[in-house]
Amino acid sequence: MICNLCPRSCGSDRENGIIGFCGVGKTAIVSRIAPHLWEEPCICTGNGSGTVFFSGCNLRCSFCQNGKISGGKLGREMTDSELADTYISLQDMGVCNINFVTPTPWVPNIKRSLDIAWERGLYLPTVYNCGGYESALALRSLKGYIGVYLPDFKYMDAELGRRFSGVGDYPEAAKKALHEMVNQRGEAVYDSDGTMVKGVIVRHLVLPNHTDDSMRVLEYLHREYGDSIVISIMSQYTPQPNAPDELSRKLTAEEYNSVVEYAKALGIKNAYIQDGESASESFIPEFR
Ligand code: SF4
Repeated sequence: MICNLCPRSCGSDRENGIIGFCGVGKTAIVSRIAPHLWEEPCICTGNGSGTVFFSGCNLRCSFCQNGKISGGKLGREMTDSELADTYISLQDMGVCNINFVTPTPWVPNIKRSLDIAWERGLYLPTVYNCGGYESALALRSLKGYIGVYLPDFKYMDAELGRRFSGVGDYPEAAKKALHEMVNQRGEAVYDSDGTMVKGVIVRHLVLPNHTDDSMRVLEYLHREYGDSIVISIMSQYTPQPNAPDELSRKLTAEEYNSVVEYAKALGIKNAYIQDGESASESFIPEFR
């Protein structure tokens, strides 16, 4: 496999053990498998969301909360069959979905493992929980495999993507990816427990000093998709040790409220907001 699974298209021969920009090779590496209670309420019913945190990432965000695993070095190698068994174990624990976190480098592994898991009795919806810097072609290959797409839409200003995540084409790539996700899953569908089983939730983390860009993101999302998608406006920005100066503090309540008020003024109704308490270290899962 000469990898072009994400817009970096770094062309690494991962099939033969060459590590890609995302830090990973052929066999899936998983860092954490556990019920998780802090996702948006509609994907976190019952005993929580059944998260599978994959190692490696195609972005290099200076504010990454999962920095310990995004480099691809921390975790355990798992075959497709072992992955399938973990989905069944999570299902047996009463979670409401199987939530693939940082799935982008692992699309083929996810598809193969789901084929096996469905044969073994998996019936829960799946969630594709990603950074938004996705290949539309790779997403197209996931048609029929994913119930809920949960992408970030981090920036509208390409310069911010370059400075904070190490990619120069973030907005264009994220727009194309989101278009494909909405085409596949469209309007949200919920089951009788209020769990979203089909749909798209777009996360936007408001950054300190950059509320103007957040407003541009919201404008775009609302203009293109109205209330057919759910928007999650997040306040939980937590400065990491190597953050650049402009991101070295938490978001203020005034900054966050100004973005929420802007969303209301645009007429956005289908949205989640957070309270200030969310900007806490306790929202960063401990990886072992
Ligand atoms: S998924 Fe990884 S290896 Fe594949 S193109 Fe993207 S960065 Fe390169």
